[in-house]
Amino acid sequence: MSNDCTFCKIIKGEIKSSIVYENDSVLAFKDIAPKAPVHVVVIPKTHIEKISDLNQQNKGIISELVMAANGIARKTNIATTGYRLVLNCGQDAGQAVFHIHMHILGGRKMTWPPG
Ligand code: 5GP
Ligand code: ZN
Repeated sequence: MSNDCTFCKIIKGEIKSSIVYENDSVLAFKDIAPKAPVHVVVIPKTHIEKISDLNQQNKGIISELVMAANGIARKTNIATTGYRLVLNCGQDAGQAVFHIHMHILGGRKMTWPPG
């Protein structure tokens, strides 16, 4: 855990969020500034700054995030119509919160390429 990390504060309950799913290793909550009708953020409960920091020991967290996202997609009724999973890594990708997170976006037609 990091004391000055927004998402660690959400895990500790110091910042309120609308939680949609939780298990031993991940937490998922509604994005505060949704970019689609369904916009959920899934995070590991351990503080890892970015995807490029993953290693052999903690790489399993990615499958945890994806499996949680798939379940949330079913629960929010976007599994059939489709959804986009986004992992922003670093400055050029626009990563704003440096605690690994996966965006689940759905409920509207997405465009490609992303901006
Ligand atoms: P990034 O740009 O780093 O990939 O995405 C960070 C996301 O976290 C953004 O979509 C932003 O709206 C969301 N976010 C930032 N702070 C908070 C917060 O305090 N609560 C919630 N629910 N979402 C947040
Ligand atoms: Zn953190």
